[in-house]
Amino acid sequence: MSHQATLAHVEAVIERVVEVGLQPEVTRGEDRSVVAVVGANAYAYREAFSHLPGIQEILQISKPFKLASREFLPHNSVVHVGGVPVGGPEVVMMAGPCSVENEEMLIHTARFVKSRGARILRGGAFKPRTSPYSFQGLGEAGLKMLATARDETGLAVVSEVVAPADVDLLCRYVDMLQVGTRNMQNYALLQEVGRSGKPVLLKRGMSSTIEEWLLAAEYVLSQGNRGVVLCERGIRTFETSTRFTLDLNAVPMVRQLSHLPVVVDPSQGTGRWALVRPMSLAAVAAGACGLIVEVHPEPDLALSDGAQSLDFDNFTTLMSDLQRLEAVTTPQPA
Ligand code: PEP
Ligand code: MN
Repeated sequence: MSHQATLAHVEAVIERVVEVGLQPEVTRGEDRSVVAVVGANAYAYREAFSHLPGIQEILQISKPFKLASREFLPHNSVVHVGGVPVGGPEVVMMAGPCSVENEEMLIHTARFVKSRGARILRGGAFKPRTSPYSFQGLGEAGLKMLATARDETGLAVVSEVVAPADVDLLCRYVDMLQVGTRNMQNYALLQEVGRSGKPVLLKRGMSSTIEEWLLAAEYVLSQGNRGVVLCERGIRTFETSTRFTLDLNAVPMVRQLSHLPVVVDPSQGTGRWALVRPMSLAAVAAGACGLIVEVHPEPDLALSDGAQSLDFDNFTTLMSDLQRLEAVTTPQPA
């Protein structure tokens, strides 16, 4: 409360706190009073309280996200994606083309990435493209190809869902639903993937803060779906020489704030294939528990994101470098 606040002002605040079902804890100092507001979701009333007279400032003490927070679950959570544990001691590689282009290239790529140690196959069937004239993906036909690739290789499969109405369809074919950067704050979609109960790969919005990202995770978690894996994929900055700026600060920061597994996408994060290997190694060194990397048999011919896709030789080099790095990095403590 401000220095000028009267006893009546303080009483009015306390009354209002009780009215909305929260618990007031009042400290009356020499100089001024402090009213602590205790209860789930107390911060949501911030706007409503801000009009009461005599208030100097409303400060947030506890974090606005609860289920995603480290306080809620002190140990690291592990998300099982079609039998593959993400968030445990093993660094999990998810790899495959940006888009599913045809069955032959998908299966060829799936077999290859599996032979080099990938555990999960990625591939977009519904592509959220910046331009409506760019390749939009094969839709359900692409999902069927992913399911075939899973049957042929035993890899688990992750693919992006762009609309709430498509969630059921995706769930019939994939092991994990990807929510893309452009949809991180699509709350209807977050609730629908939450209700589906499928593991979710939640990309960070390219202009979102870490807090907004964790609140997006909270939307999924609060539907009873505890299978959220966070994915740092680069943010917009003033820098133009790379497609995005891969924010690796976010990895140890989120691990402090949250128990959820964090993986990194150095393909979208850099936009350049030559930067994918060094940034993958940096991500693992920073504590990422997995990577999602774009791989294409002929990146020059890719229908999307060829410039950031690794060819088979470069993927092989990356996997052997990662194995050497893993031998010297110990799993991060909780
Ligand atoms: C992708 O993984 O191909 C993709 C479109 O990701 P993002 O949403 O991070 O741009
Ligand atoms: Mn892509």
